[in-house]
Amino acid sequence: MATVSPVGFDAERVRADFPILQQQVNGHPLVYLDNAATTQKPEVVIQAIVDYYREDNSNVHRGAHTLADRATAKFEAARGKVRDLIHAAHAHEIIWTRGTTESINLVANSWGRGNLQPGDRVLVSAMEHHANIVPWQMVAADCGASVEPIPVDESGTLDMQALRFMLDDGRVKMVACGHVSNALGSINPVEEIVQLAHAAGALCLLDGAQAIGHFNVDMQALDCDFYVFSAHKLFGPTGVGVLYGKSALLEAMQPWVGGGEMIETVSFAGSTWNQLPWKFEAGTPDIAGVIGFGAAIDYVQGLDRVAAEAHELELLHYAESRAREVPGMRLIGTAANKIAVMSFLLEGAHPADVGTLLDQQGVAVRTGHHCAQPIMDQYAIPGTVRASFSIYNTRADVDRLFVALEKVRQFL
Ligand SMILES: *Cc1c(COP(=O)(O)O)cnc(C)c1O
Repeated sequence: MATVSPVGFDAERVRADFPILQQQVNGHPLVYLDNAATTQKPEVVIQAIVDYYREDNSNVHRGAHTLADRATAKFEAARGKVRDLIHAAHAHEIIWTRGTTESINLVANSWGRGNLQPGDRVLVSAMEHHANIVPWQMVAADCGASVEPIPVDESGTLDMQALRFMLDDGRVKMVACGHVSNALGSINPVEEIVQLAHAAGALCLLDGAQAIGHFNVDMQALDCDFYVFSAHKLFGPTGVGVLYGKSALLEAMQPWVGGGEMIETVSFAGSTWNQLPWKFEAGTPDIAGVIGFGAAIDYVQGLDRVAAEAHELELLHYAESRAREVPGMRLIGTAANKIAVMSFLLEGAHPADVGTLLDQQGVAVRTGHHCAQPIMDQYAIPGTVRASFSIYNTRADVDRLFVALEKVRQFL
């Protein structure tokens, strides 16, 4: 079998960098197709975390000793790597959080509570992840604002005409939209969404959790106000996330979490805040995680990302063509512009049962509502089976999925 895919990306070589993939699960070589939930970590990331704990472990920003200096240098270097990765104008526009969820909660609570008035509207998409719905609902309820879905059609494509119409009344203050849907794989036309939001006097937050693992994004070209993602979906560790925000907006926002590190001075008469980015980083951060994420970004920057994405899409198209030959297999999410996510149902089979039977054959997929219940309700389904592909998947993985699905069909 050819090791280099038709698009010239050597997925087999990449695969060898990921030790977890070299194992058997339930007596079969692991086929990992749950990349939309979390990606695996290359050896260089694991090693960076181990090295930090073995050699540099110390608290950042406050020690007057060599280990603290080394830890701080690596910690802040990782911030610079994120800046380069997403082409932000300044490193102080990169705020460390615990993940996408926390980043959105930070913006909703800090920017939202400071700016939303009774009658104001926040728009999210109908296929949004719960992380970009619930924080807005919590804050909007306190501010007298509303959270409304931008419609999505049967294929999983955002209705841009409806968005234009919704923006018309001048009461929309925030358009908070996924860059890519984790449940369906749809890529939204974010450049246009940002332009429309700005033209209507609204800000735009983009949830990039599913985009960042598949293609490069450019903050200065996109011109969005906030962009959020999690390290663990870009081959980095769990527990680390990024909030990118435009400098002027972050400057004007009140901190959300108070404590050490985020202050300039503290007295019982009142406290003053540290400068960006530390104003939003109270307490000891996940230092090892941030440094591990720095290694993940180095790893990604060493790949040809355009070829990697073409490789993933080639797998998706191959998988979808095989799916069309399987009687009773229904694809959910068929937008023209997609990442390599295949959500599906098998007629007469509950998604959870399909997932269990695939796992018994060593094939890891996700089943359920994928933290996107509203869009499942729109399709009137309880959930889907989701196979999501990454840089280390191969055509052999797709073949294994379909061999396993054939067994599931015979069994059920
Ligand atoms: C995974 C994901 C989230 C939540 O990320 P956490 O790391 O769990 O905070 C939010 N939005 C999308 C689109 C996701 O895929």
